[in-house]
Amino acid sequence: MAAYSLLMLPGDGIGPEVMRQVRRVIDWMARRRDLEFTVSEGLVGGCAIDAYGVPLSDETMAQALAADAVLLGAVGGPKWDGVSFDKRPEAGLLRLRKEMELFANLRPAVVFDALVDASTLKPEVVRGLDIMIVRELTGGVYFGEPRGIEDLGNGIRRGVNTQVYTTPEIQRVARVAFELARKRGNKVCSCEKRNVMESGLLWNQDVTALHAAEYKDVELSHMLADAAAMQLVRNPKQFDVIVTDNLFGDILSDEAAMLTGSIGMLPSASLGAADANGRRKALYEPVHGSAPDIAGRDVANPIASLLSFGMALRYSFDRSEEADLLDKAVQNVLKGGMRTADIMSPGMARCSTSVMGDSILRELDKLVG
Ligand code: NAD
Repeated sequence: MAAYSLLMLPGDGIGPEVMRQVRRVIDWMARRRDLEFTVSEGLVGGCAIDAYGVPLSDETMAQALAADAVLLGAVGGPKWDGVSFDKRPEAGLLRLRKEMELFANLRPAVVFDALVDASTLKPEVVRGLDIMIVRELTGGVYFGEPRGIEDLGNGIRRGVNTQVYTTPEIQRVARVAFELARKRGNKVCSCEKRNVMESGLLWNQDVTALHAAEYKDVELSHMLADAAAMQLVRNPKQFDVIVTDNLFGDILSDEAAMLTGSIGMLPSASLGAADANGRRKALYEPVHGSAPDIAGRDVANPIASLLSFGMALRYSFDRSEEADLLDKAVQNVLKGGMRTADIMSPGMARCSTSVMGDSILRELDKLVG
């Protein structure tokens, strides 16, 4: 059996605390589930600035490019607020995304039964919710040229950004969405603004053409992005996979995240193109940041990071059985009443980061007998 190479970049703030629990689950998988990992660790963000003067060293970047999967904690914190824009902790993360060419960002929004009351929406609207937002991550208005702020004179300035997409950019992210749908509920909803934007019209036509050519077995629908924003809070369970561009995906994925109620529970994956062997560059990270307000106190919720590793098992290592096992262990622990402070509710048992890790490992042991 070939060993999978994992690069762990815990980063700053609560990053190292939550990633410690991930490491324990990686070791458990290696011990109990016939999986072999070679794990290395590196620095990213503020801790890399302190050590090397840059938020990501060339050596760490090379390790990331060579790894089967990168697992990231979080970067940033008030200590580095004063550093220059190009050297800030987040620049390390942006360099990883750019050089690994991670064009597809996957953000699941899953409501665990035990946490159904954490959502601000009515329980009947969100109970059983399981949707996946696929956001295009390297194109569109955040990168398009021309961009900038021009001085037109007489105290008037003009801010410009350009929304631009090409057919290959649209079709490669749509392909990821169709492939994912085949392993889930077999439905894709593509969102754009074709009524007012030519780039939206092209998006719609290219997704439709790809569907007709290669994915007729998947149910495809189209929705204007503003209508999708409304439908996400009105009836989110109508969706399975949503695919959309960088800007709309930024907004819709945050909206979907809030359906679940807690930022400490949200994983994500960012994937690059598949090589000749079908291997994709991939980065897995929780949606949350470094939470400096609670760092170093062993109170952070490690579940977002653990579920991110679950996504690595599913999408980089094709081990959905183990990913399901981890999901089940998390569900059972929550059902048993264990809660970190961020998801605490009356009558539940409040626990620390490490005790949440202990409980999940115990549950994994129980599940495999
Ligand atoms: P944040 O996600 O770090 O924290 C927002 C709130 O959620 C805080 O109250 C925090 O305590 C809480 N929280 C976050 N994760 C939690 C967890 N796992 N368990 C329990 N509570 C949790 O966002 P922020 O406060 O806006 O940013 C803090 C720092 O993180 C900033 O430096 C920001 O730039 C950085 N940041 C990094 C990333 C990343 O690494 N991908 C993402 C967002 C923000």
